[in-house]
Amino acid sequence: MAIKYELIKTCKQSGARLGRVHTPHGVIETPAFMPVGTQATVKTMSPEELKMMDAHIILSNTYHLFLRPGHELIRQAGGLHKFMNWDRPILTDSGGFQVFSLSEMRKITEEGVQFRSHLNGDKLFISPEVAMEIQNALGSDIMMAFDECPPHPAEYDYVKQSLERTTRWAERCLKAHSRPDDQALFAIVQGGMYEDLRRQSAMELTSMDFPGYAIGGLSVGEPKDIMYQVLDYTVPLLPAAKPRYLMGVGSPDALLEGSIRGIDMFDCVLPTRIARNGTTMTSQGRLVVRNAKYANDFGPLDPECSCYTCTNYSRAYIRHLIKADETFGIRLTTYHNLHFLLQLMRDVRRAIAEDRLLDFRDAFFTKYGLFDNEKGF
Ligand SMILES: [Zn+2]
Repeated sequence: MAIKYELIKTCKQSGARLGRVHTPHGVIETPAFMPVGTQATVKTMSPEELKMMDAHIILSNTYHLFLRPGHELIRQAGGLHKFMNWDRPILTDSGGFQVFSLSEMRKITEEGVQFRSHLNGDKLFISPEVAMEIQNALGSDIMMAFDECPPHPAEYDYVKQSLERTTRWAERCLKAHSRPDDQALFAIVQGGMYEDLRRQSAMELTSMDFPGYAIGGLSVGEPKDIMYQVLDYTVPLLPAAKPRYLMGVGSPDALLEGSIRGIDMFDCVLPTRIARNGTTMTSQGRLVVRNAKYANDFGPLDPECSCYTCTNYSRAYIRHLIKADETFGIRLTTYHNLHFLLQLMRDVRRAIAEDRLLDFRDAFFTKYGLFDNEKGF
């Protein structure tokens, strides 16, 4: 088995899990947030900077690397870790989500998905077998089974057919996976916002004994209370001895609520994407540093943050750089946002260890809502 999940303890106050995922490239302390490095780079950050902020794992996108530079080139380079000079764990997604959200003229059959590249219109095909071949070439520590992520909202009958196909595809992924000794394959539970379909998907996939399970098809435009309801009835269906990954979720409130519901791993482009237009996450809520009111503000982005950006640079300076389209401004906001979420997860892990995660959440939310006009994401 490529990975091992170690449950250290369960928070007596909240039920959240403190654990470790042991991988061939090191340990991931959980609950964990995974920065997203779509094109084999976390946009504007070097691997050294990611280590400075103590990211344990990053995520990279199969679809994007398949299109460019191609998985054969990355295989020649000795795998994705060597290619991008990152020696800690990597998780790769299956390509499914991007095939459905980015590509054009896609056609889904039982065999797989035919689509046109969003870069140059090339006709391409990804099946469960192709998704495994790509991820085996990339050499990620954790790979994802090829799934279909239906849009939200979607009709019951469509979601049911789609999750049943996702189950059959997961079975084909297991068979096609050629490196089970050093790469762990996670399955993705689908089923939309329908409780019985989530149950069906979870039961079918857990019967196949994957090393870990993800919950997909959330954070696709549904209200957050619906997402939390789906987690309330889906997480208990997953095996306690395996890691649980909630895909595409990265707002501070959802990281807290997800951890409380027993999720171990999260990823999202949110912190890096909003950083590039001058929006930051702080202990007092959302702060849009490009706003005029920060022009003469020589304080740090977040007075409670100890990151490289907040230790050395002011809101006024960062605002100036972003207004002047200087790359360094975006690097500073990106560094801070990623550090903020990694620090939040360190605080969450400590609160679980001390059985006080609900108290921590309430204190965090109270402070986080201080700037009424800017709070939330
Ligand atoms: Zn900071």
